[in-house]
Amino acid sequence: MLFCDVDPNTGLITPETLRNAIQDARKRGLKIKAVIVVHLTGRHVDLKEIKEITQVNKLELIADSCHAIGGAYDSMPIGKSYYEQINTFSFHPVKAFTTGEGGAITTNNEKLASAIRQMRSHNMIKDGSNENKWQYVMNDIGYNYRLSDIQCALGISQLKKLKGFKQKRSRLVKFYNSKLKKFFPKITTPDRYGPTIFESVNWHLYSILIDFKALKISRGKFMENLRQKKINTQVHYIPVHTQPYYTKLYGSLNMPGSIEYYERTLSLPLFTKMHKDDIEFVVKALEELL
Ligand SMILES: *Cc1c(COP(=O)(O)O)cnc(C)c1O
Repeated sequence: MLFCDVDPNTGLITPETLRNAIQDARKRGLKIKAVIVVHLTGRHVDLKEIKEITQVNKLELIADSCHAIGGAYDSMPIGKSYYEQINTFSFHPVKAFTTGEGGAITTNNEKLASAIRQMRSHNMIKDGSNENKWQYVMNDIGYNYRLSDIQCALGISQLKKLKGFKQKRSRLVKFYNSKLKKFFPKITTPDRYGPTIFESVNWHLYSILIDFKALKISRGKFMENLRQKKINTQVHYIPVHTQPYYTKLYGSLNMPGSIEYYERTLSLPLFTKMHKDDIEFVVKALEELL
């Protein structure tokens, strides 16, 4: 596996960082088959241009759309798989749309869909065309990756609420942005950067950038101070390439964009049942700390 760096202000793979990663791989004589992009926090990468790059280089394009469910890109719902071959979704409880656990894959490719369906259920292929109705064949090892009926029932009811979730979260994000703007450049709000048409985003996270160096405070201490004011924050995420599993495999990699993003990012509370008052409470606490 190869890593692609991201934009230091959005945490997203960009056409430029992708071109660099592909070039670097070619220089080192490495073969690439597919590109996986992540729509971090719900904001989408530039799928159109990234698709062009993958086409020129004969690569498949997969989107991790876990954060972006309910959003749209180029007037098409995220997951439509128009530019991408595969979209993956997680329905874990922390996501804007949940079934408790589980997830889904969407694709435009019939063959892939059928292979994925088979893999989901032990790779048992039922024929059913002759009188021996019990027969099935297993050409390969499969898994039990089925979503239970009970989880699906929750998912179906959640689907009806998805549009409302998006509207609510969008309003909350706008309110946060308007309230936090005056703290720039100590705090950078997500509307300052990025290729995003904001109306089309279903915000999974509200992650701001904080210049902890200029504030002369560590992020850990900053978060602890907020916790004492009854506000829980989180860091999304530790750059994957720095995890021991990957450093053992690949050594220490130079991904300056991801490090620059990581060092400044902090996710503030964002949940559908939140009120403007709650945001004012968070903003007041931030103001006191700044
Ligand atoms: C939640 C999440 C995952 C993992 O999903 P699981 O359901 O735990 O497999 C992967 N990628 C992103 C971007 C996520 O938010």
